[in-house]
Amino acid sequence: MFPIVGGGLLILLTLFVRIRSVALFLDPPNAVLSPNMLALHWITAFGGSFTTTPQTLQGTPVLRVTYQKSTTGFGEDRIEQIANVLTAPIVLSAKNSSFKLPNGAPITDVAATVLFEDSVQIVAWDQTECSGQGYHVFGVNGKAIPQPAWVYVAHELSHAFHNALGTSPPAGVEIQAILDENAHRAQHGLPLRDPGSHKGGCGPGPVQWWLPSFPFDLLKELIKSNP
Ligand SMILES: [Zn+2]
Repeated sequence: MFPIVGGGLLILLTLFVRIRSVALFLDPPNAVLSPNMLALHWITAFGGSFTTTPQTLQGTPVLRVTYQKSTTGFGEDRIEQIANVLTAPIVLSAKNSSFKLPNGAPITDVAATVLFEDSVQIVAWDQTECSGQGYHVFGVNGKAIPQPAWVYVAHELSHAFHNALGTSPPAGVEIQAILDENAHRAQHGLPLRDPGSHKGGCGPGPVQWWLPSFPFDLLKELIKSNP
């Protein structure tokens, strides 16, 4: 048997490890059918299940997210790593197109970015997709291709993930994130992005992320089970 003091220490250590070992949060703290949650469902190819718990992070109400995958894929594995394994907090923060970056520029200049607040990385992303115009980037053939919202969320999560692990190559940060983005794109049969081009902008087309395979049956089930 452990002496009481040892047992107490063990419990404290276990609590400490549990709290530190969860790294993914949502702001605003809405779960079902929120844009943040929908982005995570897309990234994980609508497989597995999420658990959310209300929590406060640096004075802001957020939802803590954990993820149980049901199959292996690039998106599922990446979100499992971020939500269940990383110790550095990452907040998915859904903004509108009018949101201004710390330098005063509109978020529509970049669609999404990683902001740093102390040890917390905030993935700020434009949930309104350039006021409904959508975004584009450039494909391997040099032509513009759609940049669905969940894809730019996945792209910024790649930056945050590698920042947290210290595995961002200083000279190749964008190439690394675009190669990750392409792995997400490949999983969904989307055209691949040119790893040498970080250009993009508003348009073409509204709300590309509902197409072409949005699982409306799952949506109905979610609405039914969360009236
Ligand atoms: Zn990037």
